[in-house]
Amino acid sequence: MCRYIRPEILSMSGYVPGEQPDPQDNVVKLNTNENPYRSSEKVYDAIRLVLESGLSRYPDPLALGFREAVSRRYGVDPSMVLCGNGSDDILTILTRAFVGGGELLRLPYPTYILYRSLAEIQGAKSEFVYFNKDWSLPDEFYSGKADLRLVFLPNPNSPSGTTIPKKRILEIAEQLPCPLVIDEAYVDFAEDSCIDLVGSCERIMVARSFSKSYSLAGLRFGYLVASTELVAQMLKVKDSYNCDAISIAAATAAISDEFWLTENRKKIIATRNRLTNEMRAIGFNVPDSNANFTWNTHSNIDVRLIYEYLKSRGVLVRYMNYPLWGDGLRISVGTDDQIDQCIKLIRQYVTP
Ligand SMILES: *Cc1c(COP(=O)(O)O)cnc(C)c1O
Repeated sequence: MCRYIRPEILSMSGYVPGEQPDPQDNVVKLNTNENPYRSSEKVYDAIRLVLESGLSRYPDPLALGFREAVSRRYGVDPSMVLCGNGSDDILTILTRAFVGGGELLRLPYPTYILYRSLAEIQGAKSEFVYFNKDWSLPDEFYSGKADLRLVFLPNPNSPSGTTIPKKRILEIAEQLPCPLVIDEAYVDFAEDSCIDLVGSCERIMVARSFSKSYSLAGLRFGYLVASTELVAQMLKVKDSYNCDAISIAAATAAISDEFWLTENRKKIIATRNRLTNEMRAIGFNVPDSNANFTWNTHSNIDVRLIYEYLKSRGVLVRYMNYPLWGDGLRISVGTDDQIDQCIKLIRQYVTP
């Protein structure tokens, strides 16, 4: 029966998310950049309130309450906000709205590989532009091509955790012949967001997630900030009720609790910087991270074996191998205790 499946789907391999072990196995889970801390209690209060009034009605298809909360927080008009079932849903809506079959989507490399899967599902082409060795972007990233329709740039990037300065992003956006999506899944752990550029440069769109900095990966909520005109078009593409009543209420409570975010951010950044320093002291190459993970490579140890060693002792990190680029370990920032366990094992492995 598979011959009835579209050839684009048959030939693609499909995005493979990081491993999700059984919670009962008590694995120290440092592989998918989740936040190790519990989200704001205000989130749980908001969820309880929804449950009390029941779930028999459809949710607000436009999630107006949430869009107003973004407006209060970032000073953008509510009509500039598009909500999604996780920011992956936002990325899907963007690809469907901007990139037709046979047209071109550009992404840097190495990066979040879901972008390419989205292009494949769409029957579109994707083009990698390699980062320079220092994780800056070559001018080629903004070169115009006739069929180029959309460019994705995660900032901070994964797996490197590095950022492209805002000035450079504006320069790229101004040279590009098409819109530029800044995927800010990790921006709360960085210095600078591009949300304030959206108002002045229509070509820039900013995607955000609640999975990392708000400790809500299990909830599924994300949003996009773009011009009012573009959001109005994308509303036609999304599922009518792509966000449920529970996630809308929870995300609204989360984004309104700025104190929680500030405190969480401080803890994660402190642990991240310690992780970076300790891994460097052991002999790894670690670029300065602006995210809640670090990218660790080594010039003469097979890091795949370290991944296996850690896994066999109950610590799960992410092993990544990028063809023509190289491999490394991406370690998510856990609690101090989890990071201590991880570092201790790595030290045991590398020091004979
Ligand atoms: C985690 C991640 C996402 C997905 O976020 P969800 O809101 O969980 O769908 C998007 N982009 C990047 C770069 C990510 O790392």
